[in-house]
Amino acid sequence: LLQNQLQELKGSIRVMCRVRPTAAGEGAAVVTIPTPTDVLVAQPGTREGRRSFAFDQAFGPGSGQEAVFEEVEPCVESVLDGFNVCIFAYGQTGSGKTFTMEGSSREEGLAGINPRALRRLFEMIAERKQLAAMGGRGGGESGGWEYAVSLSYLEIYNENLRDLLGDVPAARAGGAAAAPKKGKERASLDIRSTGEQVQVLGLSSLQADLYFADEVEEALRRGGGRRSVAATKCNASSSRSHPTLDAESLQALPSRRERRHAPLHLVDLAGSERVKKSDVSGQATGMLEAQAINKSLSALGNVMAKLQEKAKHVPFRDSKLTQLLADSLGGNSKTFMFVNINPSA
Ligand code: ADP
Ligand code: MG
Repeated sequence: LLQNQLQELKGSIRVMCRVRPTAAGEGAAVVTIPTPTDVLVAQPGTREGRRSFAFDQAFGPGSGQEAVFEEVEPCVESVLDGFNVCIFAYGQTGSGKTFTMEGSSREEGLAGINPRALRRLFEMIAERKQLAAMGGRGGGESGGWEYAVSLSYLEIYNENLRDLLGDVPAARAGGAAAAPKKGKERASLDIRSTGEQVQVLGLSSLQADLYFADEVEEALRRGGGRRSVAATKCNASSSRSHPTLDAESLQALPSRRERRHAPLHLVDLAGSERVKKSDVSGQATGMLEAQAINKSLSALGNVMAKLQEKAKHVPFRDSKLTQLLADSLGGNSKTFMFVNINPSA
C-alpha cells in the first residue's frame, strides 16, 4: 500500500500551509482553518476581504513539529529507495520557515524537519541492516543493499553558491568534495550537470554515519547558523539555506549490481516579501540582494508551473536555485512546499 502511495506521489507537488501562532504584540489572528485542507483569511466581524485558499494539508498554530514531520516522513524514507525529494519552506520573513525546517534547539520536541529527517534516515539504515542480517526482507533479489548518506550544506546568496560546511575535517570530507581552505570557503561554487545528475563542484560533504550521528547533527545546526544574515526592515535575520542529504544505495548480489543515488533537498527559501515592503532600496547591496531573491523565487515559481502543465521546456537555467534542483523537481521526484504564514493581518 505504501509503495503504491509513494508511486502516486511521484512527480507530484504537494502544497501545505502552516500558520504559526500569533506572537506577542501582533494584531489579532485573521486566519482560521475551517477544514483540514482550507485556510480562510477574514477580518473578524466583516465579510470584506474574505478569501479561502485550498491546500493539500493545512496546519494550524496548534500543530507541533512532530505532526508536521509525519506528513513528509514517507517521502523522506523513500530517498533510500532512490526517489529525489525536495522540501521547501516558503513565506515572508518571520512567518516560520526556519522554525519548520530547522526548528528550535530550545527543546528536543521543537526540532524541525531537518534534524528529524537526518535521524529517520539513520534509523532506517539501521533497521534495514538488521532485517538483512536476520535474513528477512534482506533475502533474494530485493536484498543485499548497502546505504551511505552524506550531508552537504550551502546557501545561495546574490546568485552565488556558498559552502556552509567549509571547515569539515578533511578526514570526514568525502571524495572530490575535499574541505576548502579557510578564507576560500565563502567563494561562489559552480554547478555542473552531468547527464541526469547535478553536482556542485568543490562542495564539502560529511559522511552521515550513525557512528558519529552527534557530529553530523552538530554540523547541520552549525551550517544553519553560518548563513548570511542581512538586516532588512522586516526582520533582522532574513536568510536562506539549503542542506542536502544525499543517499547512495548500492545493491551487490552475485546476480545483479545496482547503484542508486538520490538527494533529499531541505530548502529554507529567502523571505518572499517584495522589495518595496522591506524598504532596502536605500542600500545598494540590499537592493541587489532583494532582486536576486526575487529572481530565484520567481524562477522557482515558473519551473513548478511548467512542471505542473507538463511543458516541454522547463526553464531550470533561469536561476541558481532551479539549476541546482533540476534533477530533483519533476520526473522521478517528489516535492513538498510549505507555505508559512503569520496569522495576523
Ligand atoms: P522565518 O524563518 O520565516 O523568517 P522563523 O522561523 O524565524 O521565521 O519564525 C519567526 C518566529 O516565530 C521565531 O521566533 C519562531 O521561533 C516563531 N515560530 C515560527 N513558527 C512557529 C510555530 N509553529 N510555533 C511556535 N513558534 C513559531
Ligand atoms: Mg528564517
